[in-house]
Amino acid sequence: MPETRVNNAIAEIADFIAPEDEFLLLGHEDADGDCIGSLAGMAYLLQELDKNPVIGIYQPIPEMFQLAIQDDLEIEKISEDLPDINRIIVLDSSGQDRLGPAADLLDSRTVLNIDHHEDNDFFGELNFVRPESAAAGMIIFELADSLNWKINQNAARALALAILSDTGFFRYSNTGSRALEVVQELMELGADIHKISRSLYGQNKPEAMRLLGRGLSRIEVSGQGRIAYFYLNREDYRITGTSSRDNEGFVNFARNISGVEVGIFFSEEVDCIKVSFRSNDYLRVNDIAASFGGGGHPRAAGCKTSGELDKVIDRVINEVKKHV
Ligand code: AMP
Ligand code: MN
Ligand code: MN
Repeated sequence: MPETRVNNAIAEIADFIAPEDEFLLLGHEDADGDCIGSLAGMAYLLQELDKNPVIGIYQPIPEMFQLAIQDDLEIEKISEDLPDINRIIVLDSSGQDRLGPAADLLDSRTVLNIDHHEDNDFFGELNFVRPESAAAGMIIFELADSLNWKINQNAARALALAILSDTGFFRYSNTGSRALEVVQELMELGADIHKISRSLYGQNKPEAMRLLGRGLSRIEVSGQGRIAYFYLNREDYRITGTSSRDNEGFVNFARNISGVEVGIFFSEEVDCIKVSFRSNDYLRVNDIAASFGGGGHPRAAGCKTSGELDKVIDRVINEVKKHV
């Protein structure tokens, strides 16, 4: 990890982009709306600059984020056949280790790291990290705005989806007035936020709702009412015909219980237990997630651990109890 945490100047970012035609865009594992919206938004901006961006993926893109991807985007699966592109732009990822099977690609290429995680480890040759930004999509908008890049309707829609997704449509504590201003501008550039809302929250699959019902029936509250948690095991996914890609947003149901400071959701996956944390007012869940090898934001974090589900639940809840 580089010793300094100094951001490059916007002019240096412009100099990284100007001379090249081809860019490979990468985001984090289990991509969320900010990740997909930022990848698509950046790709549309680069296209307007007459560049050839390629989005590298290694997991299917969930239906709810497909709206960010309209037409004419080159999306390639990470594999041997991936075109050999020397310049990589990584979005919404705190470290190289968040890139799953794409992580190795960074070693032999020049990397621009654009992110908003406070624990970002400045893994790029160039770094543009703004923890005060509500979403990676906000940073991309600010870059485009400063450099007078043309934001077409596709870019506007994708960046709006990124910002609205990471702010929970302006409901989360990371929502500043700038996020509203930026989304207003993106609306003026053609982003339809009702469509984005329907896309993010209005296309639940019945089987995912049955999955949620199984989880919610097990809600436990502990720590003097300040901790709420529930789990889903492999059997739940099997019986409902779902996968862990169908549990987006479930953790919020635990956080939104009256009096609760922290909501925690445990998902038994094929090869690990995934833990999601969301807090309301004061608990720095990124620190707790970091103590289990993960990370994230002060009010939204996650980690992956190995071990049996009930043991992991005990370990995590006991740790959280020390802090609420
Ligand atoms: P999630 O609960 O998966 O939606 O994750 C919430 C946030 O925590 C994400 O936006 C990431 O910033 C971060 N995060 C999730 N999983 C991990 C992980 N395994 N390692 C580091 N950060 C993570
Ligand atoms: Mn993300
Ligand atoms: Mn983000």
